[in-house]
Amino acid sequence: MNKPRVIVIGGGIIGATIAANLTVQGLQVSLLEKETVGGNGATKFSGALFRLYDPDREIARLARTSIELMENSLVGKAFAQSLRRCGILYACEKSQFNDDSISRCITQYSDDLYPMRLVSQDVASDISHGCYSKENVRTLLYEAKGGFGDIRKAARDLSHLVQSYGNLVLENTQVDEIGSTPTGVFARCGDYHLQADYLVLAAGAWSRQLVKHLPIETRSIPLASLSTARESPLPIIDTQTGTHIIPLNGGFYQAGSKIRASASEPESLRYATELIIPDILERLSGSKLMHIPTDVVSVLKGFDSYTADGRPIIDFVDEYQRCMGIAGFCGIGYKIALAVAERVKNTLLSEATKGSLPDTQMAGIFSASRFPSQEGVP
Ligand SMILES: Cc1cc2nc3c(=O)[nH]c(=O)nc-3n(C[C@H](O)[C@H](O)[C@H](O)COP(=O)(O)OP(=O)(O)OC[C@H]3O[C@@H](n4cnc5c(N)ncnc54)[C@H](O)[C@@H]3O)c2cc1C
Repeated sequence: MNKPRVIVIGGGIIGATIAANLTVQGLQVSLLEKETVGGNGATKFSGALFRLYDPDREIARLARTSIELMENSLVGKAFAQSLRRCGILYACEKSQFNDDSISRCITQYSDDLYPMRLVSQDVASDISHGCYSKENVRTLLYEAKGGFGDIRKAARDLSHLVQSYGNLVLENTQVDEIGSTPTGVFARCGDYHLQADYLVLAAGAWSRQLVKHLPIETRSIPLASLSTARESPLPIIDTQTGTHIIPLNGGFYQAGSKIRASASEPESLRYATELIIPDILERLSGSKLMHIPTDVVSVLKGFDSYTADGRPIIDFVDEYQRCMGIAGFCGIGYKIALAVAERVKNTLLSEATKGSLPDTQMAGIFSASRFPSQEGVP
């Protein structure tokens, strides 16, 4: 059998990881990016925290798969080089639900590969060099091998891997139209038609420009860069106040806001900076994390593609099972990118050899058709 040719549209972390994963499998891959790989979209702005626990067990499962792939796959190892495993502290409201959910996750996943444990306020204060306040009453989860990554480097490194196998990476190349037939696909860039056997649409919040009925929307994720007198060695998430901090070097850090807007595409989003900055500072103040209230350096106008249930779409979106739509990462695409890319690879290889699609239960969970109004053809 000839190795299938696959067009991947979008050089964000998802498209780049998928392209690399297909490449090392020997497929002929063309990665098309309208700007620069890792330099646009959600990936451009992402804080890229990496952690396993998620109240949604399916997301936790994907994160765990990603962790395993970092140990035992070539692409996973390349991806892992961008990850700073400084540990991560997750603080959430004390409640029976949170306690049970976290305990279940620890029982299921914590091991030498990825240790997770509940810690006391004193320990949280120690490991954060005093940045986590002992005054807070929270359930505190410490993931010692979590952290945060240089997501833009990861995307670029993975695209270099694609090129190193002799495959095509075209930057500054916008795809204007896609289509499929029973025997193949095309991607039109201006007057030029690129042909292949399969297509993977990983255009993030722009995906609906090419597949109109994809059930996603764009939501803003604003962050601010601030300076600090006291540095934390690790990221801290405080879900009770709805913020998080990501340490940068040289006495700077990033923090999140919950002032969100939604739109059909990124260009239509409005960022109310006059609300975002006070919101970030108020949340930090509620978390009693270190900061000087007036020292905002910049506001980052981030966004991502969202689905209604917080889970991504990993599915064929055309009647001929030739175009996969991979979108709706809801602010967690970095930590599950490897698992998603693995799933895309397995699905395309099964389809190419005309076997049955793997893991049909997963297909339902991440299908585009789980949203009733979805029509799903490009
Ligand atoms: C502020 C912020 C913080 C975040 N924090 C975290 C976190 O802590 N942990 C975590 O796991 N995730 C986090 N995320 C989410 C994560 O970064 C995203 O889920 C992920 O980057 C999505 O990647 P993507 O490849 O799907 O989309 P994108 O990064 O948006 O990439 C899509 C790419 O497609 C290209 N494209 C679009 N249309 C076309 C076209 N027609 N032709 C060619 N190319 C096209 C775009 O130029 C773009 O490069 C965060 C995101 C943001 C914004």
